[in-house]
Amino acid sequence: MLTRAAVLYKTLNPMPIIELEQDRPKFGEVRVKIGAAGVCASDHHVMKGETNFPLPIVLGHEGSGKVVEVGEGVSNVKEGDNCILSFVPSCGFCRSCRMGLSQLCDTNRITGTRQYDGTYRLKDNNQIQIHQFAKLGVFSEYVIAPSQACYVIDDSITFETSALIGCAVTTGVGGVINQKDIRAGMSVAVFGAGGVGLNAIQGARLMNASRIVAVDIYDHKLEFAYKYGATDVINSKNQDPVKAIHSLSGDGLDFAFDTFGHSETTMQAFKSTRKGGTTVVIGLAPEGSVTQIPMVDIVRDQKSLLGSYYGSISPHETFRKILEFYELGRIDIQSMVTRRYKLAEINEAYQALDRGEDGRGVILFDD
Ligand SMILES: [Zn+2]
Ligand SMILES: [Zn+2]
Repeated sequence: MLTRAAVLYKTLNPMPIIELEQDRPKFGEVRVKIGAAGVCASDHHVMKGETNFPLPIVLGHEGSGKVVEVGEGVSNVKEGDNCILSFVPSCGFCRSCRMGLSQLCDTNRITGTRQYDGTYRLKDNNQIQIHQFAKLGVFSEYVIAPSQACYVIDDSITFETSALIGCAVTTGVGGVINQKDIRAGMSVAVFGAGGVGLNAIQGARLMNASRIVAVDIYDHKLEFAYKYGATDVINSKNQDPVKAIHSLSGDGLDFAFDTFGHSETTMQAFKSTRKGGTTVVIGLAPEGSVTQIPMVDIVRDQKSLLGSYYGSISPHETFRKILEFYELGRIDIQSMVTRRYKLAEINEAYQALDRGEDGRGVILFDD
């Protein structure tokens, strides 16, 4: 079988769109015709060489589509089902899965960009085997993936919307609403008003936060953040966000979320919280990044610093919650999509992300 995909052969170089040979789904796998794929910063880190991944690779981990073929032993989905694809298809039996932390699945991490049996499903015409980012690689017309990546959804949900639930919405909304100690009336800061940041903001709104402070370096992104529930905005290019937050709140905020993922934003987030406050790092920083935390404050002010990956709990469980909120009209996903591209325009889509344009770009595939 064949598929057309964007392949990253060399970091810092455009990805050519080429035809690849694709194997049939093996045991426990499905073939999905991709409907939409989100333009997320995590893929961009790989393109720029800031995160190390084996090459050549098909990137794209935020996607949804229709199952067109199922391999042997697949019972959770059938041909014709529309589904959101989880970028951590969990194995179900490793220690992390057993502990209820399927978003951290150990087997998934070990096998990485190959399928669960450790082999590849894609080859180029030089017979070079191609990796699939997060076992998906949704910058491709068709994807072979473990069936457990699939979360079946109603046909009435557009692919554009369901694709975003695959990463940005789940990471942002889930990273906030799944925190154990978050309660109504708490004050919150969200650093970074990109795709994940806007969703963390609407996550805070769902939790009835009393104050939601959005911090970014772009005024147009901050303007956009008001639509999702930000009550105050701070441009950290023009003013020190820590001072600005303390002058707004008096003694700091209950929760600060770093959705950007950078040594400086994490430190600012940490310093923005009040005594007993919690900082949650949601955005993935370039590999090797470290941050400096004032050690006296973390003890004397009893502060917490946490990480949150893919919404902090089972991704499928966060998908379920988000779809319920979505049906009730309590979260907004559609208006986040500000740019639409064809697969052939993928390199331009990432240039727009690099320029810091607001909202989310989406690659739409032909029917
Ligand atoms: Zn992502
Ligand atoms: Zn596992």
